[in-house]
Amino acid sequence: MTDTALMAVGLAALAGFFAGRAYRTTSARDRAFGADGLSERFLQGLEYLSEGRRDEAIAELSQVPRDQPGGEVVEQVLGSLLRETGQVERAIQIHQGLARRQAMPTLARARAHAALGEDYRRAGLLDRAERAFEQALEADDRNVAALLGLQRIREDQGRWEDALALRTRLSRRRHGDDSVVLAHLHAQVGRERLRLGDPDGALTAFREALAHDRRALPAHLGLAEVLERQDPALAAATLEEAARAVPERAYLLFEPHARACAAAGEPGRHTALLENAIEKSPRDWRARLALARVLRARGDAHEALGLLRRAGDENPQALLVHLETWHTLLALGLPREATERYLDAATGSILFAAPHVCRRCRYRAADVQWRCPQCHEWDTFVEERLAPPR
Ligand SMILES: [Zn+2]
Repeated sequence: MTDTALMAVGLAALAGFFAGRAYRTTSARDRAFGADGLSERFLQGLEYLSEGRRDEAIAELSQVPRDQPGGEVVEQVLGSLLRETGQVERAIQIHQGLARRQAMPTLARARAHAALGEDYRRAGLLDRAERAFEQALEADDRNVAALLGLQRIREDQGRWEDALALRTRLSRRRHGDDSVVLAHLHAQVGRERLRLGDPDGALTAFREALAHDRRALPAHLGLAEVLERQDPALAAATLEEAARAVPERAYLLFEPHARACAAAGEPGRHTALLENAIEKSPRDWRARLALARVLRARGDAHEALGLLRRAGDENPQALLVHLETWHTLLALGLPREATERYLDAATGSILFAAPHVCRRCRYRAADVQWRCPQCHEWDTFVEERLAPPR
């Protein structure tokens, strides 16, 4: 649960306490309440919560008398706070107690089951989490937390049709734009159908994905994959449309587009796509790199080298550009002038000779720092390197 969501629940609890004021003032039994009838500890807990001081909020809310009207909302919030601070066992105890309580209003019971489901999910007890979310939905089939929690479990299990059904229900229940998530879930359903040998079903799913969000690249890619077998020219056209819809990610389409064009017997079409991408965004180093590869394969190594120089200017850190440059220089017989020019450019582009990064705040520096200039911690710098995990 986010801080904002917690605040929302906290304010709901506040409303509950106001509702209970009359009851409390008549019973007049509790010195823990101030002149306004609200528990001081409860108010202090809310205060801490709004400042993001979770541990202090927990300490205060734990002291709020439970047998007051609205007390179960305080417990609900307390349980969620405990979960968010890693005290999942205590969270489970509190939410279990709430879910089992007699004479709980149906919606409150559903909330308790949903919170319990999230506790279990966090603890890695997926079977129990699943059961708790289902119980929440039996009590209240609109419970947003339970729909979302169950959707995430189905996603982890790769049960995409179920995840999609849950998200569809969820997006009908609340306001806000779900189109990106729905599009990606439809695309996953399409991939799954493709895997199971149902290309027609896959096509339907990919098209539905694009109806939700025209920028869902996995759906474009899936669509092209199905079409490539039937009609490679149509597949190429699909990928060109995708490049127009998502120009900044068009490089993900280059490979399948080259394949489709080759299969359709129109290799020039692929070159045109790359040239078009460079023309539209002159800083697109990936399009230049891709075009350079095509040109080198065609024997135009000189022209390829020019493209690679520009690509290197735009992204000097890209190892792929350096590799392609060496291949191209080799293809040209390592001409002295061009090779020296490349080495000069590469030397001048070294931004961080020995890149180091703060483990605490991710601050980057050109060399090791003993005290981090950003978070002021001592001895937190490590060498930054991109290497495969061991
Ligand atoms: Zn730092």
